[in-house]
Amino acid sequence: MFESFVQFVRQTFGEPEGFIPLHEPRFVGNEKQYVIDAIDSTFVSSVGRYVDKFEEQIRDYTGARHAIATVNGTASLHIALLLAGVEQGDLVLTQPLSFVATSNAIAYTGAEPCFIDVDPNTLSLSPDALTDFLKNQTTLRNGICYHTATGRRISACVPMHTFGHPARIGELIEICTAHGIPVVEDAAESLGSTYDGQQTGTFGLLGTYSFNGNKTITSGGGGMIVTNDERLGKLAKHLTTQAKVPHRWEFNHDQTGYNYRLPNLNAALACAQMEQLDGFIANKRQLASLYQTFFQDYPARFVTQPAHSESNYWLNAILLADRTERDAFLTYTNDHGIMTRPAWTLLSSLPMLRHCMHDGGANAQDIEDRLVNIPSSVRL
Ligand SMILES: *Cc1c(COP(=O)(O)O)cnc(C)c1O
Repeated sequence: MFESFVQFVRQTFGEPEGFIPLHEPRFVGNEKQYVIDAIDSTFVSSVGRYVDKFEEQIRDYTGARHAIATVNGTASLHIALLLAGVEQGDLVLTQPLSFVATSNAIAYTGAEPCFIDVDPNTLSLSPDALTDFLKNQTTLRNGICYHTATGRRISACVPMHTFGHPARIGELIEICTAHGIPVVEDAAESLGSTYDGQQTGTFGLLGTYSFNGNKTITSGGGGMIVTNDERLGKLAKHLTTQAKVPHRWEFNHDQTGYNYRLPNLNAALACAQMEQLDGFIANKRQLASLYQTFFQDYPARFVTQPAHSESNYWLNAILLADRTERDAFLTYTNDHGIMTRPAWTLLSSLPMLRHCMHDGGANAQDIEDRLVNIPSSVRL
């Protein structure tokens, strides 16, 4: 399989010899024009018409009522957690299979992640594991959920739509609502993915996206907070702009804010990329379909979109037999110029998070052992 996989990827990307990266950005539209226009306007920092336009595009695209552009996805998640009411000493439920930005944002608030296992089909937070944990280990008092053994408050739940595949978000919202836990969706990887026809990121109290260079579309660096709650939308803008009280000339600040606003220069790039988004996703879904057909002849499982979902197929993935075969595949493909990589080391295994609570995460461990991401760029 290894050799025919390399041949297949080379043929599919039209690259008979060169290096094929895991995911590279594509600038095939108005990117240069808009960036130059931003420079010519002199508005290159965090105020400018491209920032407003980008927020409007995200509102239109996702259907969220409010969208607030930030410097990156991690900053978006940090602010969203603060707005959800997460405080020092709280517990925040999330999955062990995610990029470190998810747990870093939780740590910035002074709260601690508590890791709940993922679903083997969606690769994202499991409603079944979440139900088990809440039933066996928590107590609801006055509408607030507490971890029974430690008395710590559980102030948010952060599902992440892994590699662009939607979590079982409807069930997760229902469970969390019944336990008085606000949901903040880490939709960094899933812009354009839908569950029951609704955009991921718009189910929770707040949702966040990333526009880092490796995501489906990029602003160089950038993020977005979305919410349907007008008060939270206003607060998000306030907190990300140094909590400056709007005034024509006075500099007055009413709390400790953050310098998290997206520069207009980056927003210009984002506006051009937004125009490409639908085409990019169609292109990525076609690639996924080619992979799916290819892997039908081999004993590796190609990860496909879960039920009720339409995935953006941000990063394609396969599951091999075990860690030994995974490592052999990684070695062979990277030796032959095809970039592949394993899933992230589980967050619950990282040195700064090893002490955190977890439920064993058997599915996450199995996925970590066997999963490999394969080239997923938009093909020209
Ligand atoms: C990319 C990503 C983020 C945000 O990353 P930034 O580089 O800060 O934009 C957050 N969570 C997940 C799961 C991601 O993949």
